[in-house]
Amino acid sequence: MKENNELIFLKPVLKERIWGGTRLRTEWGYDSDLPGALGECWAVSCNGQADCEVMGGRYRGRHLSELWKKCPELFGGETKGDFPLLVKIIDAGEDLSVQVHPDDAYAQAHGGGNGKWECWYILDCPEHAELIAGSHATCRDELEQMIREGAWDTLLNRVPIRKGDFLRVDPGTLHAITAGVELLEVQQNSDITYRIYDYGRHQNGKLRELHLSDGVEVTRVPYCITSADVIHTDPQENVPQLLADTPQYRMWTIAVNGTSAPKIKSERFLIGNVLDGNGTIDGMEVRKGMHFIVPGGYMPAQLEGRMRVNLTEPVS
Ligand code: ZN
Repeated sequence: MKENNELIFLKPVLKERIWGGTRLRTEWGYDSDLPGALGECWAVSCNGQADCEVMGGRYRGRHLSELWKKCPELFGGETKGDFPLLVKIIDAGEDLSVQVHPDDAYAQAHGGGNGKWECWYILDCPEHAELIAGSHATCRDELEQMIREGAWDTLLNRVPIRKGDFLRVDPGTLHAITAGVELLEVQQNSDITYRIYDYGRHQNGKLRELHLSDGVEVTRVPYCITSADVIHTDPQENVPQLLADTPQYRMWTIAVNGTSAPKIKSERFLIGNVLDGNGTIDGMEVRKGMHFIVPGGYMPAQLEGRMRVNLTEPVS
């Protein structure tokens, strides 16, 4: 029997965060014994912090890291190095810290690991919400000075967003998610984050660590994201809309309605995230909050129903 003729559904790993909200429980239906606020759902994750388990079928109970290591045919035959991507749903009850990520070259030259190409698909947000993306510093000296002086209002660039928007947070972009925003975050599988500013908050009685010297070094200046860089996803049904084409991954969103969505396939593999509604994939029932992998070489999969599905394909 061919290994790649089955979709792989993954069980998300939930994380408590000091800034977390309530929606991962109430609106997404995720169950967790964790007592505190849930901030992150690691929907598709294969690293030391979360290793998603397969929910059913032939690989039930096995972890993504094991499949990645032992079943390269599921991933287009090429599984050297780390699993390439990490997909999260983030529910920000409060503002998240201002941070920046390095690219691969900087990460490898400073302790190893991957850089981080990140992007955001806005699932929900308050009216007139803004995200922090980029800065108003004109040169690195000015960036350093504004950070030293705590001139956050002048330094940090804010971009207005609404539900359904998409923006890229390339390496070197100062960024922060703001209170009330709920989003799908797709990124390289990396845990390198340089925290620049944390609003003076305490965790277990202590200020959280900042990483100013690396942060200043990797931040792109001048660089800010404007409304023109934000993609407003269009409501055209059953047509995949390309949101991101980066050196690390391509991402599409598709508003499925009825039975006429085009079939999906990849020679490498696809990560699928059902973000709203419900329907079927090749007859398997799916609904909001389910996450799956379409193996490389899997026959084209048919989406049906009334739902929003985002699809991501690794490039490298
Ligand atoms: Zn980030």
